[in-house]
Amino acid sequence: MHSTMTVTQLRECAEAFVRAEPGRRGIDGWWRPPLLATAAIDQRFEALPRIAASDHLHPRDLLPAAQSVIVFFIPFRKALVQENQKGARPCRNWGEAYVQTNDLIGRLSQALADRLAQHGFPSALTPATHNFDEVKLMARWSHKHLAHLIHLGRFGTHHMLITPAGCAGRLGSLVSAAALGDHPLIETAEACLLKAGQKCGRCIQACPVAALSAEGLDRQRCWNRLKQNRDTLEDFKDLPETTHVCGKCAALMPCSFKNPVPSP
Ligand code: SF4
Ligand code: SF4
Repeated sequence: MHSTMTVTQLRECAEAFVRAEPGRRGIDGWWRPPLLATAAIDQRFEALPRIAASDHLHPRDLLPAAQSVIVFFIPFRKALVQENQKGARPCRNWGEAYVQTNDLIGRLSQALADRLAQHGFPSALTPATHNFDEVKLMARWSHKHLAHLIHLGRFGTHHMLITPAGCAGRLGSLVSAAALGDHPLIETAEACLLKAGQKCGRCIQACPVAALSAEGLDRQRCWNRLKQNRDTLEDFKDLPETTHVCGKCAALMPCSFKNPVPSP
């Protein structure tokens, strides 16, 4: 039997789950409170093969009865981002936070799905990362493009999503048979200063391998750097093979912790 489930309840569920994570792990925790947006499945999602990847899945490929897409963003704490800003290589904690956040994303997605199931609504989950074609480097399920479509954030020049809590963090998503409606979070047409016609470009200057320009991201150059970091950094040796991180273009930028473009 179905009972009502609101986006406020889902947001509270996500916040409580992330808040409890440090206690669960016996660590201080890397995270600020998460953001969560939802959207009804409509013609917007037909744009995914055009804007993301030609073989991008439609939400109903994951769950034929899906009515809503849910995307959440787990922002990192400032101290972690600050630590990762130093030098040209990522710090050990950045790698650890990546690994732990991927795991958290999986369990948070499951917790949200369980909550929806209690109300009678099935959901389908997707992995946090490495669901992409390494040659094309485009995800068949792109959390970033979904987050953009449902207005959780806007793309920055660094090709990350800038949300009201900034860009330094990680995204996760699921689809559900619950009809949750549209609950966007970003209010400005752009959230990147450069794209909004203002002066910035700090992420371009911060990239250690010149993978960024005002025109976009050189994916292959960025990906090579992420792989090289994993393969060569001594203090990454015991982290999983999939610990592909850098994060310099998100470290202490005007868009790291907030949307720097003022609301109209
Ligand atoms: S650092 Fe500046 S140019 Fe780069 S994404 Fe952020 S706001 Fe845009
Ligand atoms: S993640 Fe690193 S290599 Fe990739 S664009 Fe950002 S700064 Fe450059």
